[in-house]
Amino acid sequence: MSQPLKLTVFGNPIAHSISPMVHSVFAQQTGIAVDYGRIKVEGDFAEAAKAFFAAGGIGCNVTVPCKPNAFALVDHCTPSAEIAQVVNTIKLEVDAQGKTTLLGDNTDGRGLLTDLQRLKAPLNGAHILIIGAGGATRGIVPPLLDSKIGVKRITIVNRTVSKAQDIIDAMRALKLGTQVELVACSFEELKALAPHCNIILNATSLSLKGELPDLSDELYRHASFAYDLFYTPKGTTVFTEYCKSLGIAHVYDGLGMLVGQAALSFALWTGTMPDVGLALEQVRAQLG
Ligand code: NAP
Repeated sequence: MSQPLKLTVFGNPIAHSISPMVHSVFAQQTGIAVDYGRIKVEGDFAEAAKAFFAAGGIGCNVTVPCKPNAFALVDHCTPSAEIAQVVNTIKLEVDAQGKTTLLGDNTDGRGLLTDLQRLKAPLNGAHILIIGAGGATRGIVPPLLDSKIGVKRITIVNRTVSKAQDIIDAMRALKLGTQVELVACSFEELKALAPHCNIILNATSLSLKGELPDLSDELYRHASFAYDLFYTPKGTTVFTEYCKSLGIAHVYDGLGMLVGQAALSFALWTGTMPDVGLALEQVRAQLG
């Protein structure tokens, strides 16, 4: 019998990560045996990753705060990672001469887009507000700019406004989404701009601390769909609860994105794409 594929997730904190459980659901579903662990990164990410691959690892996921370090470490990247400049998935590749290289991918954006489509988010003609401009936002903006999706405007609000502007500048430099209006602003400026947005995505880490972004209720008024990239076992976060209390009809946490991006990682490592919808049901049931 072949050895299980040695996989892991790197990050800090990492004890809370449900990635091992998600990948064990994929393994059962596909019949591909995996040994998926968790590694807390307290020192140098590159050293920890190299030690993992030297010990037989064939792939890993990377989460906060190591995604930019993973981008710096890999030998080459998929277009998604190249555009986002952050890596959440690494695959060990071996060529015919036995030379090994590390391939970096970013599956966050495609994972989110697939989940938004599954949830029938009104993306065509959408005016989207993204709150936060960290590693996750770098990954999620590029797929939303695809002309086939039909988004009209994306406003990115962030405490550190230069990070929101950097993302927009990078997209403009790559000539991505030239048909989409892109706006970067601070929370103060957002209050003055008061854009009408029908979709609101919370991509800050505030829900982890049980805190809400500093938005006026007026900003939520035109939204019919809100999504927190953060997730909880119950499927509710402080942000999703607040959105519901303001009457937003369609409100979700980020578990579907998590399972979606994990499935794309699994497919990169194994060549087999799990059934995301089925896996999501199983993961939600196990968390419950
Ligand atoms: P990150 O790179 O650390 O970025 C954190 C973001 O939150 C930044 O925009 C930061 O603003 C903002 N923030 C933090 N504290 C704040 C505060 N007190 N007030 C205002 N803004 C604050 O993290 P990330 O990787 O982008 O992840 C962001 C969220 O997405 C997390 O909740 C993470 O769990 C979630 N996520 C989910 C998935 C999924 O598959 N569901 C995947 C990736 C990420 P500054 O730039 O000003 O610091």
